[in-house]
Amino acid sequence: MNKKVADIAGIGIGPFNLSIAALLKEIPAAEAVFFERKPRFDWHPGLMFREARMQTSFLKDLVTAVRPTSPYSFVNYLVNTGKFYPFLSASVETVGRQEFTDYMGWVTSQLDTLRFGTDVQELQFVDDHFLVRTSTGAVRARNVSLGSGRIPHIPEAVASVVGDRCFHAINILARKTNLAGARVAIVGGGQTGAEVFLNTVRNHWGTPREVLWVSRRLNFEPLDETPFTNELFMPDYVRMFHTLDAGRRRALVEQQKLAGDGISPSTLREIYRELYELRVSGDPKEVSLLPARDMIEVQKNGEELGITTHNRLDGSRERHTVDAIILCTGFVERLPAYLEPLQSRLHLDEHGRLQLGRAFDVQWDGPPDNRIYGLNLGRYSHGIAESQLSLAAWRSGVIINHLLGRPIFDVDASAGFVRWGSASEPQRQAFGA
Ligand SMILES: Cc1cc2nc3c(=O)[nH]c(=O)nc-3n(C[C@H](O)[C@H](O)[C@H](O)COP(=O)(O)OP(=O)(O)OC[C@H]3O[C@@H](n4cnc5c(N)ncnc54)[C@H](O)[C@@H]3O)c2cc1C
Repeated sequence: MNKKVADIAGIGIGPFNLSIAALLKEIPAAEAVFFERKPRFDWHPGLMFREARMQTSFLKDLVTAVRPTSPYSFVNYLVNTGKFYPFLSASVETVGRQEFTDYMGWVTSQLDTLRFGTDVQELQFVDDHFLVRTSTGAVRARNVSLGSGRIPHIPEAVASVVGDRCFHAINILARKTNLAGARVAIVGGGQTGAEVFLNTVRNHWGTPREVLWVSRRLNFEPLDETPFTNELFMPDYVRMFHTLDAGRRRALVEQQKLAGDGISPSTLREIYRELYELRVSGDPKEVSLLPARDMIEVQKNGEELGITTHNRLDGSRERHTVDAIILCTGFVERLPAYLEPLQSRLHLDEHGRLQLGRAFDVQWDGPPDNRIYGLNLGRYSHGIAESQLSLAAWRSGVIINHLLGRPIFDVDASAGFVRWGSASEPQRQAFGA
């Protein structure tokens, strides 16, 4: 085992820990190491449709919000890869997800603190440090950051039939999906549901006979990208949100679903045009759009799947028979298995979620100088921006300031127009370091 004790060990190299790794690079005194089980950087490869676009601005990259002069910005990537002028000329509204992945891969290629092909199996606390046990050996660290992502959400109604014919979309591009001649239900009215629906009606996996798109939402609704909704993705809102009581926070997260989880308006337009073209061309496949439906039961009848839905508008029950169900039902926070040895020491809420302090520090009964930072684990403590890139660089700045005990990054620089709470100033200072 390496006897050195790192200042911080990061578990998982998705965008969020990668942002911390990129910002830490300018502080050579801080010893950091990050682990990723995949052999190289990749970003949700199973959902990387060729035409998929980012839902956030390229300025919301790994570093710019707190260090615009960082060499790891998206703009520097454009310059270094010879794309700056063509990028401007292309006048794209949003960057393609493949290009943003390439940008993040370009950042990883310049950082020497990242260890790919290394699965973290256990996190223990021994004496005055964490012991990170991995598939390639153990490492000691004074602090850790948990960035191992969220897991696919499988609705209860389908749990018993999940298999080859009913599966989560997470790996749809990696699996051998054949929908030729099939009746298919796509479940979920968010961006992934929209992209899977569009590709299904475009015969990406063969020509289906029938396509149903089922969503609980009252319609196929757009992501709200209007200015005052965007203020929910600013530091001031997060600071205020964290001061609210748990019940209020939960209610707000539910109310604000469409702000962070709707369908890009451009995708909605594309879908509508595609449906129009299908009608004009007399395409024989049957397409049914079924919003406002709760999926209450799914039964396997031989090779077929019977779905019962409840129509939230007229209260009726409907039955559908399909050959395949594709679940685009999102992701949920989970306590990673590697936390098992620490579980009894972690402060959890009544839903089993980690309690996070203002600086994303997990509340636990260990020494105050040994921090566990939780990334993408604070939707109910810090708000809906938590699972998005919007504030990823800002959150990294808050965490690094807290870790090193000094304000290295200015995390208070940018203020919005809305005054959310009555105590904005003290809240700001508390987040500074
Ligand atoms: C298809 C899709 C598109 C999205 N597009 C946008 C967008 O346009 N804009 C936006 O703001 N947000 C977007 N999001 C939301 C969010 O930004 C991403 O989900 C983001 O990837 C979350 O980053 P993360 O670092 O928390 O987790 P992840 O990206 O999931 O990374 C976690 C990493 O941890 C690794 N890991 C897990 N367990 C271990 C272990 N035990 N040991 C080692 N490694 C481990 C995993 O292999 C994985 O690589 C999108 C989400 C999806 C699913």
